Amino acid sequence: MEHCASLSCPMDPNIMLAKNDDISYISISSFLSFYFIWSIRVHTNFLHSLWQTALRVLGYSHGTIDHSAIMLEMIPLLAILILIGSGVNTLGDYIQELLDADAHGGRVFSTGTKLVQGSLNAALLAAGTTLEAMKSILEGRNRLAYALIRPPGHHAQPTQADGYCFLNNAGLAVQLAIASGIKRVAVVDIDVHYGNGTAEGFYDRDDVLTISLHMNHGSWGPSHPQTGLPNEVGKGKGAGFNLNIPLPNGCGDKGYEYAMQEMAIPVVAKFRPEIIVMVVGQDSSAFDPNGRQCLTMAGYCRLGQLVRDQAELYSDGRVLLVQEGGYHITYSAYCLHATIEGVLHLPTPTLSDPIAYYPEDENLAVVAVAQVKKEWITACLDVKL
Ligand SMILES: [Zn+2]
Repeated sequence: MEHCASLSCPMDPNIMLAKNDDISYISISSFLSFYFIWSIRVHTNFLHSLWQTALRVLGYSHGTIDHSAIMLEMIPLLAILILIGSGVNTLGDYIQELLDADAHGGRVFSTGTKLVQGSLNAALLAAGTTLEAMKSILEGRNRLAYALIRPPGHHAQPTQADGYCFLNNAGLAVQLAIASGIKRVAVVDIDVHYGNGTAEGFYDRDDVLTISLHMNHGSWGPSHPQTGLPNEVGKGKGAGFNLNIPLPNGCGDKGYEYAMQEMAIPVVAKFRPEIIVMVVGQDSSAFDPNGRQCLTMAGYCRLGQLVRDQAELYSDGRVLLVQEGGYHITYSAYCLHATIEGVLHLPTPTLSDPIAYYPEDENLAVVAVAQVKKEWITACLDVKL
């Protein structure tokens, strides 16, 4: 593979980004199945240049991607799957179910979660990609890494597929970190849906802090029994190491920042993680068809900044970003861009928000209408005179 010089963020020379030969965790096949590339290919040249700029900022060159390296991750992946499960037999059964479904052309695991031909390979590539990204941090090659992957993973429980997820990519990376000697890992999940699978995988553990800010959607059936309510705090020695922050629809940028400042950050500060995994979903954004939380680019940028701040305080700046959901085809890409800018602590945005949000205020119209009424009546009287 071509070797290129290491690149540093121009705004922060202490943060080493990816070397071109260290980016095997960027999966082209994941790209192709992912809406960003769909946007780039189908929409406009503008989005194409946006994406290329994002890649350049991060020091990535997708021409050097090595699929075989990612597929090699399947071996430790299976070992880690065994570690993370609540019971070897049950977990083995689940893996066998996935293999059987793959061998027999597919299976519906739960509502909306269908494994079809190619799904398992894609899921393994996504998990392997995330493990490679974590490995690059653990080996000291990067302190920031981002796994752009499909399918997502945060609903996958140790023995249960759910919510388009078969393998819990972030959870596997967390387990890799712990198995490599890291004492404490914090997961901060800002996808609009509850990261129930990640919480479930570490529910009785005190070495992994799981935090999820999400829409208050509750349980959605047998594949997703967890409610995401604040009373799900963990069990046994894990009690107090799962923090659920369900938020009302429409709470927006300021609401999310408030929740982070009031709840998530103090808990992270007490836990003092050695690595932070930021689980990112753009389905918390404005106009997302699956969410109503109304975050804008500014909100995502701020959340990225806050997570990076905690990492600088406790984790030697080490942050792994893992991609989850996001269903507004174009705006998701902008919010990803903003999140990464926030994590990079860029001093000013390099891209304007295309749907610059202006807070709704009915009183503005009331005042304006009163003025119109006054002027119109006056004008009418003038005409009559
Ligand atoms: Zn989601």
